[in-house]
Amino acid sequence: MGRIVIDETKCKACYLCIEECPKKLIKKSSKTNKLGDHLVEFDDPDNQCIGCAMCATRCPDMAITEVYRG
Ligand code: SF4
Ligand code: SF4
Repeated sequence: MGRIVIDETKCKACYLCIEECPKKLIKKSSKTNKLGDHLVEFDDPDNQCIGCAMCATRCPDMAITEVYRG
């Protein structure tokens, strides 16, 4: 099972990672940044992450700092 780490201090709330994840495991968070934009969170209750790193590769701000293949 894979896993990612999102650095919320780097996230610009562009949501490209949400579109990119083939398993749809990233969603808008209830937490917001200083501009009031919703951050994103990794939500994988069924352990579907394959550690493909497509989310991290797509992120323009390198906010997905770690990807584990499990
Ligand atoms: S590593 Fe792949 S499967 Fe896991 S959250 Fe990122 S895009 Fe989705
Ligand atoms: S792609 Fe990066 S900057 Fe954009 S919402 Fe996802 S983690 Fe945040």
